[in-house]
Amino acid sequence: MDNIYSNNHEELWKAVLGQIELSISKANFVTWFKNTSILSLENGKVIIGVPNGFAKEWLENKYNHYLLKAFHASQIEVSEIHCQITQDKPLTPAPPREAVRSIDAAHKPTLDGFLRKKLVESSNIRPQLEFSQERPHETNLNPRYLFENFIVAENNELAKAACYAVSQNLGTIYNPLFIYGGVGLGKTHLLQSIGNEISKQTPEKKIKYITSERFTTELIDSIKNQKTDQFKEYYQQMDLLIIDDVQFLSGKEKTQIEFFHIFNALYQLNKQIVISSDRPPKAIATLEDRLRSRFEGGMIADISRPNLETRIAILEAKAHERNIRIDEESIRFIAEHITQNIRELEGALNRVHAFCEFHKIPTTLAVTARVLEQLIENNRKSIKTEDIMQVITEYYGIQEEDLIKKGRKKEVSHSRQMAMYLLRSELQMPFTSIGAFFGGRDHTTVLHAYEKIEKGRSENIRLKEELNTLKERLYYNSCG
Ligand code: ADP
Ligand code: MG
Repeated sequence: MDNIYSNNHEELWKAVLGQIELSISKANFVTWFKNTSILSLENGKVIIGVPNGFAKEWLENKYNHYLLKAFHASQIEVSEIHCQITQDKPLTPAPPREAVRSIDAAHKPTLDGFLRKKLVESSNIRPQLEFSQERPHETNLNPRYLFENFIVAENNELAKAACYAVSQNLGTIYNPLFIYGGVGLGKTHLLQSIGNEISKQTPEKKIKYITSERFTTELIDSIKNQKTDQFKEYYQQMDLLIIDDVQFLSGKEKTQIEFFHIFNALYQLNKQIVISSDRPPKAIATLEDRLRSRFEGGMIADISRPNLETRIAILEAKAHERNIRIDEESIRFIAEHITQNIRELEGALNRVHAFCEFHKIPTTLAVTARVLEQLIENNRKSIKTEDIMQVITEYYGIQEEDLIKKGRKKEVSHSRQMAMYLLRSELQMPFTSIGAFFGGRDHTTVLHAYEKIEKGRSENIRLKEELNTLKERLYYNSCG
């Protein structure tokens, strides 16, 4: 190491945390990175001190990629990350706010500051409410998410209809209701609309909205504080329990067991359970079988990507809702270029609007194109082989070496074909190089894999969705 962080682990860790804090949610940041520190750093191998086994699991698995990136951004090349549980008290007492602020101050010009402020003001960034004994009936609902302002089109009509039906027949029509679809396509909006509708119609009903990650954290806390009974009791009294992004329960056996008990208790009392995920129950790796079959026992509806007309309609509705004046051509330009994710679509609209407000100019196609140039570029550029491998191994829950190794296990061979396909379709890598990358396989094997997926893509809706999710993760890496 020969830069400013040489021998100064504390400063380096602050810088790394500063980076990470910018890319994951506040709640996650505090939960997983509090009381952590660098214990040692040698030959590209870093050992991080963490307060407990859960933090170890999360840092080593889920946040590994973020950590590697953050070290890289701090000009320290790290190739291996290990965590060690330390009994000792905090070495980094609080999240390093100063570090974040100084990064901000150094790199962001004034317009960007203005844009950020605007984005925060106008977007849906909202405080994450916490489970607390003092406020036992906090619903966690965001009042902005309503059926009334949800645009219905063919990509989401089944999901919307199912959610609405549930709101009118709580616990009796579809239980559980399972909604799945890619990132930023409106799952949270729909799930919360059910809660808001119920709380309007029958305010006495007990409603709880929670993400599966938060649920896990609370459960861990309750175990630590020996309050699991209260935890269970609290959830079992709900009339409507909404668990968002349930894919994060994958691999967390203990949480799944508790969830299963709570689920059963509610189900037997005809209490409503609504769940969302980025993929169907079948595709959630390591989901306990009995939980999976419970999920499959109810109603399952998906949300797919909106087409151009729907994207235009959504943008128009959002502009109207926020009193944003924007010309038709600009709307169309945004809708044509941002195709994957409605959250991004809104973000782009806000960005253009803020830019024009700041410069006090009307929105025109030329301005819109200029403002979004970078964003659109970024979405397409800079994908590397390792990004594809990372997305594949994470999604399918397998090791990279198993993909490379010769072997004919069915699950692995499907994941390998998907990886080969993406290397070709996204990076235009030659078939021979792909073959070489996968342990010296013949180029005809790669060609076969590519053609199989390409063909399957147009015939098999499941496969098409799977590919969409993978690409989404690749371009909008959004775990966390
Ligand atoms: P997800 O939970 O699937 O990642 P969200 O529900 O958070 O997505 O949606 C992202 C953003 O897009 C939210 O601001 C939401 O209000 C908006 N949105 C998504 N779908 C629609 C829709 N059909 N009509 C209006 N707004 C939508
Ligand atoms: Mg969501």
